[in-house]
Amino acid sequence: MESAVIAAVCGEVRGDFKSGRTRSLDWRLAQLKSIVDLIKKHEEDITEAVAVDMGKPSYECFASEIFPVKSACQLAIKNLKNWTAAVNVPPLLATLPASASMKPEPFGVVLIISAWNFPFLLSLDPMVGAIAAGNAVVLKPSEMAPATSALIARLLPLYLDKSAIRVVEGGVPETTALLQQKWDKIFYTGSPRVGRIVMAEAAKNLTPVTLELGGKSPVIVDSSSDLKVATRRIAVGKWGNNNGQACVSPDYVLVDSSCSTKFIEAMKDTLKSFYGENPRESMDISRVVNINHFNRLVGLLDDPNIASKIAHGGEKDETKLYIAPTLLEDVPLDSKVMSEEIFGPILPIISVRSIDEAIDIVNSRPKPLALYLFTKKDKVKEKVIAETSAGGMVVNDCCLHFLTTTLPFGGVGESGMGSYHGKFSFDAFSHHKAILTRPFWMDIMARYPPYSAHKKTF
Ligand code: NAD
Repeated sequence: MESAVIAAVCGEVRGDFKSGRTRSLDWRLAQLKSIVDLIKKHEEDITEAVAVDMGKPSYECFASEIFPVKSACQLAIKNLKNWTAAVNVPPLLATLPASASMKPEPFGVVLIISAWNFPFLLSLDPMVGAIAAGNAVVLKPSEMAPATSALIARLLPLYLDKSAIRVVEGGVPETTALLQQKWDKIFYTGSPRVGRIVMAEAAKNLTPVTLELGGKSPVIVDSSSDLKVATRRIAVGKWGNNNGQACVSPDYVLVDSSCSTKFIEAMKDTLKSFYGENPRESMDISRVVNINHFNRLVGLLDDPNIASKIAHGGEKDETKLYIAPTLLEDVPLDSKVMSEEIFGPILPIISVRSIDEAIDIVNSRPKPLALYLFTKKDKVKEKVIAETSAGGMVVNDCCLHFLTTTLPFGGVGESGMGSYHGKFSFDAFSHHKAILTRPFWMDIMARYPPYSAHKKTF
């Protein structure tokens, strides 16, 4: 789309917001109900588009793309009246007589830029929050999931207010043109590299941003863990979640050296039980999204420091964009595979001598989006919670905090800023306006000039 057309679309959307239409609760509820309707009628189309883009199994698509968006809408529909109501708070004694309240108001016209790896979820889920909060929206789905992007662009105007909610498809040129427009909020999901570009552009207009970024999410496994359960939960979080191409994917494992051999053996058994002797034939695993990412991942495995560290898997087939679930054992901490977000089916497993060593490794790196800990010991749990920082943490499982809508989901430091999900999505797109109201009937003169000597001593 040409820059001039993009500018015109943004101008129209701003006009819609100014009309006040998107602020009404009826409008918000109607849009949210229409999203539920769209999902009910087009579940198969969505599943098919996501499968075309990345071969995602239909169960995975339902669990991680369709169901969360539908339930986000249902939660917002149920709670909208509550969420939008003013909240009374006590005024300060010095301001009495007065009443104080906070009233959420929409930011205005918001831009949502989405990533490819959950192409339906990461487009629609933030949009639910933006609509619930009463904003007009422009959505830019990811060009790297073209089938899903096209489906969203086709369906949204059929179900939603086609003037106040717009889809702009495209890649870097279109996103660049969008970022040159004036926005009241930008919600970006993607890499930290592009997050920096988005934030720099937003700064020109002092536009607030939510940045949902990625990074290397570690797993710490201590010797008290039930290794069978732990490996199942890590494996489903890694390979069962878009084949490792998820922002909250377990990126590497730090396992107590006293049980590292057993852990690797248990993980091999788990992988066999999930995907059979030949995972290439399995219908239960997504493929690598495209040839660029395939080559990037092969590059990580072809690193001369890494080739000898493959403990399991390592097979690849360019024609099918297939890389087997791969375990690497004790790779150097300064290797490439331990320096960049893996975002694919490779899992380095590193032995550590103590929980302190694991904590030191985590803390020597950028703050992760997620941190996973497996332990039966409360003391270890409390220590890791107290001594590390991460966007979110799960103890004795992986990724499930993402689906827990009573928890805020977001990063910290390099893994992002701001959060969403559940009520936090509404808040991400609302300004909570502070309102202090005073009556005329009592007016204490001591606060007004001219200030007498008596007032100065007060
Ligand atoms: P990406 O940053 O390459 O692309 C994201 C979006 O930015 C796309 O819509 C793309 O068109 C746009 N974009 C790309 N290059 C741009 C540029 N130079 N200027 C302006 N816009 C540009 O990210 P991706 O590859 O789609 O997603 C993978 C990354 O996203 C990983 O780091 C992953 O961890 C992260 N991620 C985070 C979350 C989260 O919720 N925190 C969810 C999914 C993915």
